[in-house]
Amino acid sequence: MLGLMMNQPLRIAGLLEHAAKWHADTEIVSRLPEGYIHRYTYHAAHQRAKQLANALLALGVTPGDRVGTLAWNTHRHFELYYGVSGIGAVCHTINPRLFPEQLVYIINHAADRFIFFDLTFLPLVERLAPLCPAVEGWVLLTDRAHMPAGSAVDLRCYEELLAVQSTEFEWPVFDENTASSLCYTSGTTDEPKGVLYSHRSTLLHSYAASLPDCFNCSSRDVVLPVVPMFHVNAWGIPYMTPLNGCKLIMPGPGLDAASLYELFEQEGVTFTAGVPTIWFGLLTFMREKKLQFTTLKRMIVGGASCPPALLKAFDQELGIEIRHAWGMTETSPLGTVSTLKSKNLQLSEDEQFALKTKQGRLIFGVDMKIVDDEGQELPHDGVAFGDLLVRGPFIVGDYFGTAHPGELTKTGWFRTGDVATIDPDGFMQITDRSKDVIKSGGEWISSIDLENLAVAHPAVAEAAVIGVPHPKWSERPLLIVVRKPGADISQEELLHFFEGKVAHWWKPDAVAFVDQLPHTATGKLLKTKLRQDFAGYAFEGAR
Ligand code: AMP
Repeated sequence: MLGLMMNQPLRIAGLLEHAAKWHADTEIVSRLPEGYIHRYTYHAAHQRAKQLANALLALGVTPGDRVGTLAWNTHRHFELYYGVSGIGAVCHTINPRLFPEQLVYIINHAADRFIFFDLTFLPLVERLAPLCPAVEGWVLLTDRAHMPAGSAVDLRCYEELLAVQSTEFEWPVFDENTASSLCYTSGTTDEPKGVLYSHRSTLLHSYAASLPDCFNCSSRDVVLPVVPMFHVNAWGIPYMTPLNGCKLIMPGPGLDAASLYELFEQEGVTFTAGVPTIWFGLLTFMREKKLQFTTLKRMIVGGASCPPALLKAFDQELGIEIRHAWGMTETSPLGTVSTLKSKNLQLSEDEQFALKTKQGRLIFGVDMKIVDDEGQELPHDGVAFGDLLVRGPFIVGDYFGTAHPGELTKTGWFRTGDVATIDPDGFMQITDRSKDVIKSGGEWISSIDLENLAVAHPAVAEAAVIGVPHPKWSERPLLIVVRKPGADISQEELLHFFEGKVAHWWKPDAVAFVDQLPHTATGKLLKTKLRQDFAGYAFEGAR
């Protein structure tokens, strides 16, 4: 027997319609690449998203077409999220930090018909356009006054496209499983792969993101996503904010510590989210200037492992509740967040802190397990580590344009490529990427744990650990370190720092000092490059 409730499909446009109706005067504030602050309300954003929908239809965009964006977090990018998906087309957010060859591959693979981009990316677009002949139009996200005088690319002006359109528009109703947006993984070794979200997956993820043990945002919050809208939909924040009626602050290209701090204080930001590198920069800036936050209460750190030292500093020096989260492009992206259960509050401060540094507990909508090399499920004892598998209604089922449909999740689970432990209370801890884990004498050593320890040393700016072939142990850890400016530390001193903090056989065998470490376009350590650089490395006495 079927239930007798209204069968209304979940649609992204519904989120903005809701905010425009019930939080009409709540603001969206953007710092624009043109150099000024733009301010309007959810009501005005909705009017303009409807104008954009009319403009897209006038351009001939039809349901299922891909419309690309190369843009910062601004109100115009927000309008594209709603205008494009709202008419049943696919908002393809492109990460401008990727290498140009990857961008060309992605734009051609997605078969984007139009690309909307910010002024900052004009030189990039001029390089890309001749290599992406299928793109029918390049739209500059600005007004007439800021259009360049001459360009090799035939450009259209966003504000002019909108200005001639009516604000009257009825969002179409369609199946909630319709594709809504597309984001390619950054892929360090393989070609980038497209994750195609649906209206249903996005709405369910927005509810999940709002939960108290996740972002816990309400209509009293002022939310600033530092995490970019070109990478996994800014962790769902542009959808979660209208759902809850939060004031939304868009930082544009100003992601340096001074600009962010200024915006936090000016706009009374209460909640923010970003990757560890950004928060390290902010912490250093605030320490130097002896600053405190006056309104910020809570921040999410994720996208890469958050070193305990960072968590402690924000918590203890700046009085911010900092939540460590894990996810991937393939998981929409929120998977786990480290918030304490009631029973954990009985623990000592150090024990509570140890839990908070883990990647955390599942959000409803995601299920997970860890398995060994044979696919056998491993116990949730916080010790056993294995491959992390996930499933759920906002987890990828297949990549876009895949040659082998169904292959990816034929077991019903998605293999994350991460290696993790799960403790009896459900706290998951990533110990490595499966290809980065160091296999020493049949046992596994976590490169992330060693890196976290190394960066806790005051002389260390950044650290990476890779496994280097060893005749006896098969692999042993090599610590590669960038010293802080002016800091002087020897290999012996640094290795001594590990004594008593990890099992003796986890201690790296050697330290290599370098000037800088290679990173991917999304700021993650590029270990494939490090492994190439150190391909011929041999530990002393182990040749
Ligand atoms: P991406 O799809 O580019 O967002 O990358 C996802 C990958 O980033 C995950 O599979 C993890 O390897 C890594 N990652 C994300 N969040 C965390 C975290 N909190 N701790 C450790 N690794 C993380």
